[in-house]
Amino acid sequence: LVTEGAGVGADAIPNDLDAFWMPFTSNRSFKKRPRLVSRAKDMHYYTPEGRAILDGCAGLWCVNPGHNREPIVEAIRQAATEVDFAPTFQYGHPQAFRLASRIADLAPGDLDHVFFCNSGSEAVDTALKIALAYHQTTGAGTRTRLIGRERGYHGVGFGGISVGGIVSNRRTFGTMLTGVDHLRSTYDREHQAFTKGEPDYGAHFADELERIVALHDASTIASVIVEPMGGSTGVLPTPKGYLKRLREICDKYGILLIFDEVITGFGRLGHAFAAERYGVVPDMITFAKGITAGAVPMGGVLVRKGIHDAFMKGPEHVVELFHGYTYSAHPLACAAGLATLDLYAREHTFTHARALEPFFADAMMSLKDKPGVLDIRTVGITGAVDLAPKEGAPGLKGYEALERAFHEEGLMMRIAGDTLVVTPPLIISKDQVGELVEKLGRVIEKVA
Ligand code: PLP
Repeated sequence: LVTEGAGVGADAIPNDLDAFWMPFTSNRSFKKRPRLVSRAKDMHYYTPEGRAILDGCAGLWCVNPGHNREPIVEAIRQAATEVDFAPTFQYGHPQAFRLASRIADLAPGDLDHVFFCNSGSEAVDTALKIALAYHQTTGAGTRTRLIGRERGYHGVGFGGISVGGIVSNRRTFGTMLTGVDHLRSTYDREHQAFTKGEPDYGAHFADELERIVALHDASTIASVIVEPMGGSTGVLPTPKGYLKRLREICDKYGILLIFDEVITGFGRLGHAFAAERYGVVPDMITFAKGITAGAVPMGGVLVRKGIHDAFMKGPEHVVELFHGYTYSAHPLACAAGLATLDLYAREHTFTHARALEPFFADAMMSLKDKPGVLDIRTVGITGAVDLAPKEGAPGLKGYEALERAFHEEGLMMRIAGDTLVVTPPLIISKDQVGELVEKLGRVIEKVA
């Protein structure tokens, strides 16, 4: 172990942690007792001191095939020597087209077109803008209202926090976009507690959309955006039949349906996209994270043929959609994406996740009788444990659990308030599921 004076290698501890204002982090607590990781391989991170940390959250829901997989590393290395940057405004590089075709091939129905960006937040804002522009271009410009859902998380752009349903995200900025409404959350502990997979109860929550249509009139509504499984607010699988019902109501009123699959895309629920698991074809799918296994930032929106084609009219020299990012389809991200998709195909990652799901769900449910557990939810290779909060200090128990998991158990996980969330790389073995759940169980006992 070396300090920074001796070098700036990955394992050198920085002398100064002050300058980096960390995102979505309790900065003061972190900097008192940092949780640093400097290397990673397969299912583990390693601290600068060399301590192994079991990755219980796939980095941030993104490292689906495990860390630092050689084919992805090699593809990035190779791409870096070929073309550092290539604009995709009025020019293009071959890998961008290849990757778009590969993603479209994986998507259900006629979700045939891909618009690239660099993150989930950008993907969400892109999809919302496409929805608005689509209605304008088809002569339905009064359709400007965007509908989200309580407890939804759609990133941190102005569009995303407006349709999102997390009060801490909305309180300060979420009201900047007017003309937004929300479906109610699909979570109802009284009827759903300790369910493996999608709850039987709650398809009727989709009928809320009828109420919203009755209130605002369909002619004012552009789109509805939902996560097939709410991730960031504590793993909320949608009830059986809910998404189909939502699709039917959207069809009835000409409203575009967007699935935010930034988390659920690329295997998390045992399929390339959750849309396939639920047998529903939305009008757009947002994706990010798993497309490159997190190795290079990338996001995108899959768009149905009819929506894309509606833009392809008028003089051919004119830009059809006034939208894009300098780094849309960056060559390094495309290389990482292609290598990641190859790896998923070669290792049957999604099938593995599907086969492992019942074992994972049973293992998580074994924590049911630990002290203070109020509910456990699982779906795909993802699980959450709700803990009873400490009196007068919501979120404190969750944070203590996060600290203890890292420092005492060698486990990285996510917390959402007092909910502990695990969502490991999809290559996790049964033994490692056992190890993860044991560590989690000890953490729950310690913070009780
Ligand atoms: N949408 C969903 C469903 C997410 O879970 C996330 C991030 O976790 C985002 C959007 C935002 O993605 P990013 O952090 O890449 O902007």
